[in-house]
Amino acid sequence: MIKDPWNQCLRKIKKKIQPQSFETWFAQTSAKTLTRQEVIIEVPNSFFADWLEEHYTWLIQGTIEEEFSWKPRLIFAIKKTDKSHQVRIDFPRQTEQQQVEESDSPKPRKEISASSSPISLNPRYRFDNFVVGESNEVSFSAAQAVAEAPGQTAFNPLVLYGDVGLGKTHILQAIGDFCLQNRTAQNVVYATAEKFFSDYLAGVERRDTSEFHKLYRNADILLVDDIQFYVKTEACQREFIHTFNTIYQNDKQIVISSDRPPALLEGFEDRLISRFQWGLETEIAAPDLETRKAILRQKAEELAVALPEQVVGILAEEIESNIRELEGVLKRLLAVSNIKNRPITVELAQTICQTRPRSKPAQLSIERIKKATAAFFQVPIDKIVGATRKQEITIARHVGMYLSKSLTGAPLKTIGIQFGNRDHSTVIHACRTVEKKLAGDPGFGDLLTRLENEITR
Ligand code: ADP
Ligand code: MG
Repeated sequence: MIKDPWNQCLRKIKKKIQPQSFETWFAQTSAKTLTRQEVIIEVPNSFFADWLEEHYTWLIQGTIEEEFSWKPRLIFAIKKTDKSHQVRIDFPRQTEQQQVEESDSPKPRKEISASSSPISLNPRYRFDNFVVGESNEVSFSAAQAVAEAPGQTAFNPLVLYGDVGLGKTHILQAIGDFCLQNRTAQNVVYATAEKFFSDYLAGVERRDTSEFHKLYRNADILLVDDIQFYVKTEACQREFIHTFNTIYQNDKQIVISSDRPPALLEGFEDRLISRFQWGLETEIAAPDLETRKAILRQKAEELAVALPEQVVGILAEEIESNIRELEGVLKRLLAVSNIKNRPITVELAQTICQTRPRSKPAQLSIERIKKATAAFFQVPIDKIVGATRKQEITIARHVGMYLSKSLTGAPLKTIGIQFGNRDHSTVIHACRTVEKKLAGDPGFGDLLTRLENEITR
């Protein structure tokens, strides 16, 4: 029996990365289990879990392998404390889940989704870390008003619309978080429109929609994200109208997000669109320079890194229209600084900006990236998704996965599936490999920039 194996690993990890990174990401971790089969690492919140998973999986697994010659499955769990932000939405029928939460075991971060299960809120999305500027202040104030008195304001429904990456999901979930923290609503239901309809259709298939109705129609506040993505069948529209009416008539609250104003939603019945206009429609626009800078400072603070003001300026000037991208370059900057073991300087920030993918992520498909990558490396596309381990093909495969991640922001799992049904950890490995190569080989960076330009042209 090895005494405290995780501490042994931590001592090794500490030597491999910058002290600041270690303090930020590892100092608060502990291992619930570390065996040949499985390592469960406890972290303060899901933000840590996401970051560690994306950036340090290779390091953790590599270190465990070095120390013990084990290759366990890596699982992150949220440490159970009474810290307020670890909310999970509870429903009366979910007694099993509640029992799990009340026990001493850490909460599993990702739940296996049963039918009609709620989506849990991401603790990163709160009012207190949302930066308010001219572009979003009306939406923000309306959201706060609604969260303080759900169903009691004139803003019912509240419809927030705007381009991708400008904070719609953040605000929607922040409303839910506020309601739960301040007990202004009990039954907070957050779902993407896609989830809403797939839950409905699952009910129809089982010939029993009662569970679905109970879940959605009993909401004190129903937060429906990305309504533009819903399934446009008549039955689905009818279902949504019924849900809407029930909630509205019970003086409960509805909040909807959309990528365009309701009047421009395609394939929606007029009576649905007119309902969306009963309350308040408000836009979230692209942030101005000062807001972008404030957001960067906020994110840097959350990540516990010191970001020089000049660097803030460079990044904020570079990325004008999408906050998700703004966060993306910041993270990339930190990752590169970490790998190269270099401080965050103006020069480094400039390099990152020069090599950043210039794209509208939403418009790019993984399919297109696969094709372009195959053509660029002159290898057949079926080889890229196939099993061969020949070097030139492996490189093309890694680059394809890396670009799919950075250009589309698609979940690792989705990318893995599209690249020959591979596991998400394979995608992480591919991204790490490419990032390492990028950090060590400027020629490779040029190559990648050329390919990116072709893809996004
Ligand atoms: P959308 O749903 O509109 O596509 P998100 O809500 O997912 O956008 O926002 C993208 C990212 O940008 C998230 O990580 C979010 O936290 C961040 N973000 C957006 N607006 C702000 C803001 N005003 N202050 C802080 N972070 C923001
Ligand atoms: Mg969103």
